[in-house]
Formats: sequence, structure tokens, C-alpha cells
Amino acid sequence: MVFHKKATRNEVYIVAKIIDGKAISAQIKEEVKQQVARLKAKGKEVTLAVIQVGNDPASSVYVGNKKKACEYVGIRSLSYELPEETTQEKLLSLIDELNGREDVDGILVQLPLPAWISEEGVLERISPSKDVDGFHPQNVGALCVGKPGLVPCTPAGIIELLKRSGIEIAGKECVVVGRSNIVGKPMALLLLGENGTVTIAHSRTKDLKRVTSRADILVVAVGKRKLITREYVKEGAVVIDVGIHRTSGSKKLCGDVDYESVEPVCSAITPVPGGVGPMTIAMLMHNCVESAGKGFN
Ligand code: NDP
Repeated sequence: MVFHKKATRNEVYIVAKIIDGKAISAQIKEEVKQQVARLKAKGKEVTLAVIQVGNDPASSVYVGNKKKACEYVGIRSLSYELPEETTQEKLLSLIDELNGREDVDGILVQLPLPAWISEEGVLERISPSKDVDGFHPQNVGALCVGKPGLVPCTPAGIIELLKRSGIEIAGKECVVVGRSNIVGKPMALLLLGENGTVTIAHSRTKDLKRVTSRADILVVAVGKRKLITREYVKEGAVVIDVGIHRTSGSKKLCGDVDYESVEPVCSAITPVPGGVGPMTIAMLMHNCVESAGKGFN
């Protein structure tokens, strides 16, 4: 059973069974807005460069949402919309230019990229100090050895969801299902950094139910709709659902967790939509301020 920590005088927790990612992300964006204003007063305008190659409709929606969030918190966003046929050379030379600009604090390249461009090569070219997605191997390494660096937004957002919901991580059995570089692996490292006892499960894990059933905190990032049903979850567990799936023929979204069957047995759960999703952009804004704030505090 996971116990939720009571808020002390200076801590404001949103304690509820349904973890409200919309409310918590709004709280973070308000904090970021204040930090951006403080930096502006010191003469520093926080600036994010957003690069999109081609016009994939889903990417355009993500990029549009990121720009809207920037506008809301007062971050200046510079938009680079490159045609689909852009070469890797051209993209790398834009990144080099942005790396060298003192007025640019963060560089974000929207994924996926066209097949002829190496994502790895592009992400590694971004200066680690401007890598607001936290994907550069130097930032990944820093996370691994517990040094400061920019942390991938989705798992960082999940830690905020847990902390701001008053959920203790230290000493808890944490199971992360999924081992991608953008969610599963950094998630496991962050939970370990918070002193959780961490297990990572993946597609080759034998008897997944047995592994997930020991979790006090279960994070699911597999990309398989409603994979995790009631039988996978220990009574009283906290369940974090990272998955996003659109139900065909409808606008309704669902996650990797079968919400209807799991909600009655768990002690807290993130809904889809309105759980992990809104946290990713809020943490991106947070990372921009982190990156801009160096030397200004
Ligand atoms: P990936 O496809 O990169 O990784 C999926 C992981 O799940 C892999 O490690 C894979 O194992 C594992 N896996 C697949 N099937 C099973 C299974 N049956 N049992 C156990 N493990 C399994 O996905 P991402 O990490 O990028 O994303 C996961 C989900 O999260 C997606 O639905 C995505 O849309 C969503 N997402 C949501 C975000 C948000 O902001 N809310 C942000 C990022 C992602 P193996 O390594 O062995 O192949």
C-alpha cells in the first residue's frame, strides 16, 4: 500500500485518487511564467528555437502546442519550418548556427525526421546546454551518474506528478514497463535517484503480470492500448499511464492502461487524457528556463 504524504505548511499537494495532470501542469507553468519574468527583469529574454522538417500533421500539432505554451509563459519562440526535402547537412548547419547564438537558450528538433536524416546525428549536434529535450548523450550520462543536466520532459513530468500529489517514492517498489530512451530508461533512472527500488520490464520480460503485481508505483510506457488490466496491478498501487492512443473513428483517447478495470483497485491513477500528457510541455518550458537561467541567478 502506498501512503500519501501530508502537506506541511509550505508544501501544496494536490492529493486525489485521480492525479490531475492538467492542474499540476498549470501550477508548473505559472511558476515558469514567474521565473521567465524575473529573468526578463534582469535583461534576459528566454528563447526557444523550434525546428520542424516537413509538414507531418501530428508534428505540426505538437509544434503548435509548444509555441502556444511558450507564448503563455512569456518565452520567445523562434520557428524554423524546413521543407521535407531538407538535407542532413542543411539541418546540421542550422543547429550549428543556433548553438552559436547567445540569444538562443533552447533548441528543439521535432521528431520524427525524414528517413534520410539521422535522428541520432541531429540530436547529438545540439549543444548539451541547449538540449531542452534532454536527449543528448551528455545529458543522459549526467542523469545516469546523478549530475545536474537537462532531463527528458515526460519522465521529469511524472516525477513532478508524484511529488506534487504527495506520493513518496523512497523505498517503494517501482516498476517501469518500457525501456525507450525517451521515457522508460530515464524514468527508471529518475525513480532510482528518488531512492525507489526499480525494475524495468520490456517486451522480452517473462511473466509480466508477476513483475508488475509487485509494484507500489507502476509506470506504463509501452505504446499498446489497454495492455495493463486489473490482473497486472497490486491493490493500492499508484498507476501512471504514459500511453496515448486515438480510438479509431472517434476523437476519444485511451492509454496503455485499461482505466476502467484498474481504477477501482489502485490508490491513485493518471487519466488519459489529462494525466501525463500536459506535463511534457510544462517540463519543456521548465527546461528552457533552466537552460536560460545559468549565470543569471
Ligand atoms: P517505444 O515504442 O519507443 O517503446 C515501447 C517500449 O515498450 C519498448 O521498450 C518495448 O520493449 C516495450 N513493450 C512493447 N510491448 C510490450 C509488451 N507487450 N510487454 C512489455 N513491454 C512491451 O515507445 P515510447 O516509450 O516512445 O512511448 C510509449 C507510449 O507512450 C506510446 O503510447 C507513446 O505514444 C506514449 N508517449 C506519451 C508521451 C506523453 O507526453 N504523454 C510522450 C512520449 C510517449 P522492447 O524494448 O523490448 O521492444
